[in-house]
Amino acid sequence: MKLANLDGRATIVVTGAGASDGGMAGLDVASASGGRFGPDPQAVLQDWQAFSAWAEDLDLMNAEPIAQASLGNPVGTPRQVFAIGLNYKAHAAETGSTLPATPATFTKYPSSLAGPFDEIVIDVETADWEVELVVVIGTQADHVSEAEAWDHIAGFTVGQDISDRVLQRSGGAQFSLGKSRRGYGPMGPVLVTLDEFEDPADLSISCVLDAETVQDSRTNDLVFDIPNLLAHLSSVLTLQPGDVIFTGTPSGVGVARDPRRFLKPGQVLESTIEGIGTMRNVLIAGPGS
Ligand code: ZN
Repeated sequence: MKLANLDGRATIVVTGAGASDGGMAGLDVASASGGRFGPDPQAVLQDWQAFSAWAEDLDLMNAEPIAQASLGNPVGTPRQVFAIGLNYKAHAAETGSTLPATPATFTKYPSSLAGPFDEIVIDVETADWEVELVVVIGTQADHVSEAEAWDHIAGFTVGQDISDRVLQRSGGAQFSLGKSRRGYGPMGPVLVTLDEFEDPADLSISCVLDAETVQDSRTNDLVFDIPNLLAHLSSVLTLQPGDVIFTGTPSGVGVARDPRRFLKPGQVLESTIEGIGTMRNVLIAGPGS
């Protein structure tokens, strides 16, 4: 199943034949369920087991064409947003860092999240790109083992962990604030359940800036894989339905290049993961510039 946020309402989407504007059609969850689920995307995630069982038998023949550009963040506003640093070997190497012994965890504050086709204001000189696979929690996870981890996941989406490299390192290190400027966490275009992937642990992941591929890797290169991340995090605290985990970025970020490169207003940032889709965010100047 593919789940989207269409104008703030949870919407099951189908892609392919018969759908216009990027080949997408959708069925409003609240209407189709007679009000039992939704419309808030987070409300759907809070009742994930019942919802996914209901959605399994759903007839999508009545899905109506939708405009991809009106899609929002498919997860809405999660209570907890986890992000993992240095989780691809080649990325750790390019930044001159040694691999951490346990997942290097920080948060992106929920107010930094944005939609998959939103414009993003770039009003600092040191904003960098980081395409990431985002895990969405479907059922509460408390002290789960690696073997149990997959059962707690609702699905995957694409994320960008846009990072202000100066703020990230100011005052020692404050990753959470440096990665939480307004709009620095676009997610989407859809949430895809695990049954849709041939191998959910091995997906191509790429980032394209103004038609130039700047990141191109596979998620099987994760240092701490997804079961490991859920086991680790849930040994410390309880993961709640609707929470998200940005699982780390592959190599190719701007700060590690010679010369260093950063995002500029006017550029187009495209972020793609196999089986999920592509986000396309246009970068714009701030109101003061
Ligand atoms: Zn990151």
